[in-house]
Amino acid sequence: MSEIRVEFLSKRYGETTALDGVSLTFPEGSFTALLGPSGCGKTTMLRLIAGFEAPSEGRVLFGKMLVADPTRQLPPEARNVGVVFQSYALWPHMDVAENVAYPLKARHVSSADIPARVAAVLDIVGLRGFEKRRIDELSGGQRQRVALARCLIAEARIILFDEPLANLDMHLRSSMVDAFREVHRRTGATIVYVTHDQAEALALADRVAVMSKGQLLQAATPQEIYRSP
Ligand code: ADP
Ligand code: ADP
Repeated sequence: MSEIRVEFLSKRYGETTALDGVSLTFPEGSFTALLGPSGCGKTTMLRLIAGFEAPSEGRVLFGKMLVADPTRQLPPEARNVGVVFQSYALWPHMDVAENVAYPLKARHVSSADIPARVAAVLDIVGLRGFEKRRIDELSGGQRQRVALARCLIAEARIILFDEPLANLDMHLRSSMVDAFREVHRRTGATIVYVTHDQAEALALADRVAVMSKGQLLQAATPQEIYRSP
């Protein structure tokens, strides 16, 4: 179910072709970096997978299930996809536990089960014991970990990252790289990770999909990319 496949996927905004006939499979449990310069269509690809936009042409499948083509789209909340953006969008007046548990509110999860689930995802992101801390007491890296934990608590089998390190300094970036690897190891989720930073893509991902001007140039392992001229 959590294999993602895009077929001949295109997206136009008026005169702009943001995505131009991309076909690519993201195997179940894989960690793929979408790499390319600003404006090449990476975020558009994520938005089409998440269901925030409809394709102009082509289709998106999760396993054998068609989730989007130009005529029909499964709504985002029915896709069980987690998304983490570079802006964390946390609630400043709530503590860490309240922020992390927020997605469970709409899901009829018994309140007796919530503390254990919060503790489990805080453990994955390295913030065990931070439940009662206020968001404005946290560093940028810690806030990004809270956003990551909030995404994880819904147990999505597909997790999309849109340049999550863009606002962090070099030192924090390397510690977050470890946190993302840990999330992948512990959840086994299918991860698509957007970045314009080649070093970041090669450090994190099992597969790197290189994009340019709305098209897919190459999809390969980091090892294959190091070897290619
Ligand atoms: P990337 O994430 O690689 O920086 P995007 O997917 O954000 O690229 O954008 C691809 C192209 O589509 C760019 O030329 C961008 O200006 C254009 N674009 C993206 N979203 C919109 C939109 N909502 N309306 C018009 N043009 C858009
Ligand atoms: P196993 O690999 O042992 O079958 P699961 O894959 O079901 O186990 O998950 C192991 C643990 O990780 C469970 O406690 C589950 O709730 C949790 N988990 C699984 N997927 C996610 C996810 N995407 N985000 C957060 N936690 C997850």
